[in-house]
Amino acid sequence: MECQKCGQAIDPGEEREFQSRTLCEDCYMDALSPLKACDPWAVHSAKRLEQMGTGEQFSELQAKILAFLKENDGVRPDILCRELNITPQELEREFATLRHMEKARGEKVGDQVILRLW
Ligand SMILES: [Zn+2]
Repeated sequence: MECQKCGQAIDPGEEREFQSRTLCEDCYMDALSPLKACDPWAVHSAKRLEQMGTGEQFSELQAKILAFLKENDGVRPDILCRELNITPQELEREFATLRHMEKARGEKVGDQVILRLW
């Protein structure tokens, strides 16, 4: 048995199948690694972790929310949604992240909730 890529002899039982070619261990690892490197999900997760880790890199929307709260401390969620032209769901999702980073928080005033900087 020979590797179909590098031509090296492969010991019985050591051969690897890759895309219907028989490869030695080395060529098999080579063939696999490019797939790992361009896995978009892995890159995406790494970026996300980076974002959470530093706590200083915000998405565009999060930056807008923070900027708005700086100008208008203590604003109602529905007003913030209207001003930034986003849905309550979007606000809720972004705000959860900001709260997690301790950048912004919700505060209960009477029977209303207002959003403020942390
Ligand atoms: Zn090989």
